[in-house]
Amino acid sequence: MKRHYFDHDFSARNDQKILRLRYKHGAGGYGVYWMVLEVMAEDTEGYIAPDSIGGLSLTIGVDVDTLSSIISDCVEIGLFKVCAHGNYYSTRMINHKKLMADFSEHGKRGAKARWGNNSVKVRRTKNKSNEWPKMIEFFGTCVKCYGKSGLEHVEKDHIILLSKGGEDHPSNWQPLCAKCNASKGLDMTDYRIAFCEKNSLSMPPLWTPHGQCNAIRVEKRKRKENKQASSNKNNIGQEPVCPERDELLDAIGIPEDGSLPF
Ligand SMILES: [Zn+2]
Repeated sequence: MKRHYFDHDFSARNDQKILRLRYKHGAGGYGVYWMVLEVMAEDTEGYIAPDSIGGLSLTIGVDVDTLSSIISDCVEIGLFKVCAHGNYYSTRMINHKKLMADFSEHGKRGAKARWGNNSVKVRRTKNKSNEWPKMIEFFGTCVKCYGKSGLEHVEKDHIILLSKGGEDHPSNWQPLCAKCNASKGLDMTDYRIAFCEKNSLSMPPLWTPHGQCNAIRVEKRKRKENKQASSNKNNIGQEPVCPERDELLDAIGIPEDGSLPF
């Protein structure tokens, strides 16, 4: 629900006009004055029609005579005014409502200038434009069966099903042949990762669910494998651990035990 606020000055009760109202109607009259202001605030234009005072007395909880007396005294004191059509209004409330309308309009203009009409949609769409053709070209085949199905054409599979909250975004796409896609069921494996490992590929960050995380996981696994190979003295002929890669991993901040903070 949209909320509206109206300044209530800390010293309002000691305002000269308010003091006159309180002198005549007491704290109860002061309370009624604020309730009438609230009703004015709820009206689009900020007015109260004279013929609505009967109904108003019921909602406020005072009798019609008392309410009429308080309102006419507010007019006499200068807290309320009467327009040419006989409706009551508060200059301060009208000004406040105009200010709120200006703020609202200003905010809308500002948002439009920054983002256009469909800001989020536009930015998201811009990010993923042309990514699907690029992905087909990058992998070149079905990332699950590596083309063993004999089907060259690949379909855009959403790794996490859209019905399960998956996003329609490159990070959640993978090319699958019709056979693999049809047998997918509830399988939500990102087959691109194993494909990249096997083919020494590095996916663009935009396609990975967590930016570079997948690339780092691949590095982590390779590092672990290399360590095991190095420690095995019988394993002659294995590639030594690449010192540059270790430097890179140290720079990224992966602990020696290989655990990742995500
Ligand atoms: Zn396939």
